[in-house]
Amino acid sequence: MIEFMNLPFKENELEPFISEETIKFHYSKHHRAYVEKVNELIRGTEFDNMTLEDIILKTFEKPEFRTLYNNAGQVYNHNLYWHSMGVGAKFDDEMNARIVDDFGCKENLHKKLVEEALKVFGSGWVFLVENMDGKLEIMPMPNGETPLVKNCKPILTIDVWEHAYYIDYQNRRKDYAEGMITLLQL
Ligand code: MN
Repeated sequence: MIEFMNLPFKENELEPFISEETIKFHYSKHHRAYVEKVNELIRGTEFDNMTLEDIILKTFEKPEFRTLYNNAGQVYNHNLYWHSMGVGAKFDDEMNARIVDDFGCKENLHKKLVEEALKVFGSGWVFLVENMDGKLEIMPMPNGETPLVKNCKPILTIDVWEHAYYIDYQNRRKDYAEGMITLLQL
């Protein structure tokens, strides 16, 4: 069994950037559905006692487990997304210095996150990750893919599936992505 995490904030706390209505659909319907699907698929199987990370890594590139892989990736990414809110305020001096080293300045990181969010064609995610060389990198991923399978450590993410912003922004993904920079407190 994998856990349906509790939201680390109140449903109306991301307003005006993300409405309570969006959270109700996004967290209570979409995210919950991914968790329920994973639990339905792993019940009584070898995956039942595994961590979410292990499920993703062990089903990667295994066509027979495609549905489990996709749903587990979506759970992982949503867990990270909700925990990404306000994450920038928790960065220590070392992390802030690394951002300057790897992006030049914080504003460049903001700009690059928004740019990559706009470039994702269809549904997907944009991550800030620590790559295998220990460098910070922006990593866009399609659908429910995670940076785990690229041996990268995700630090934060922006969900760019339409369900993340359609109620509040309709087709204005740029406005949503810019609102996310504020919510991330980067
Ligand atoms: Mn989502």
